[in-house]
Amino acid sequence: MDIRANGKGYEEFVRRAQEEYGVEYVRGRVAHIHPSLGPEGGQLIVRGADTLLGQQVEIAADLVVLAVGAESAKGAPELAEKLRISYDHYGFFLEGHPKLRPVETNTAGVYLAGACQGPKDIPASVAQASAAAGKVLALLSKDTLESDPQIAQVAGNRCIGCGKCERTCPFGAIRMRELRDGSKRAEVVETVCQGCGICSVTCPVRAIQLAHFTDSQLLAEVNALCRTWDETTES
Ligand code: SF4
Ligand code: SF4
Repeated sequence: MDIRANGKGYEEFVRRAQEEYGVEYVRGRVAHIHPSLGPEGGQLIVRGADTLLGQQVEIAADLVVLAVGAESAKGAPELAEKLRISYDHYGFFLEGHPKLRPVETNTAGVYLAGACQGPKDIPASVAQASAAAGKVLALLSKDTLESDPQIAQVAGNRCIGCGKCERTCPFGAIRMRELRDGSKRAEVVETVCQGCGICSVTCPVRAIQLAHFTDSQLLAEVNALCRTWDETTES
């Protein structure tokens, strides 16, 4: 129905196919394909309408290739869950941000390249793989790794050991530690925590909070902003 070849040089490729190799495009819809019964037997007859000329067309073809959709690999969702990365409802892995973090996932140290992220051609896969390799090299070239200081912290004296945070953490960064008296306390694995804050809103007793983003710090920030606003409007 329409030809829109996206990607650098692809439109020129379509034109060259027409001009140099005699490829013919017919804009229309195929109504029926059936085996030829005539003397040219062995061919397939494609019948349809040319919507530009407004007339019926019939083409005897040696080979009919139907356009098929691309699917994600079998087992992709299971792999995503093991790696603790996000995936869409088609089973393709999700990048951290489509424009700003196109090869990174939401899990630090896991990068994407190729058709695991969505249907993709070879040049795009190669470019993305080079970018992912560059990111990995940048990580491995350092003697020490820096992690984001904005991670979850548990106030042990408030934790009632309900385990809700452990069950909701999408990165498996919380484990339950058993104390001598048999009670349990949540413990954050600091190098695994991604600072998403989900545990913080899940905790029924506010025992787990994000460092530098605790409730009292956020409220103090809001109060300071309100005071500044009042003073500005009064003056
Ligand atoms: S902030 Fe909480 S939920 Fe998010 S990764 Fe860290 S421990 Fe897990
Ligand atoms: S949700 Fe809160 S109270 Fe329950 S285990 Fe986690 S930190 Fe402790």
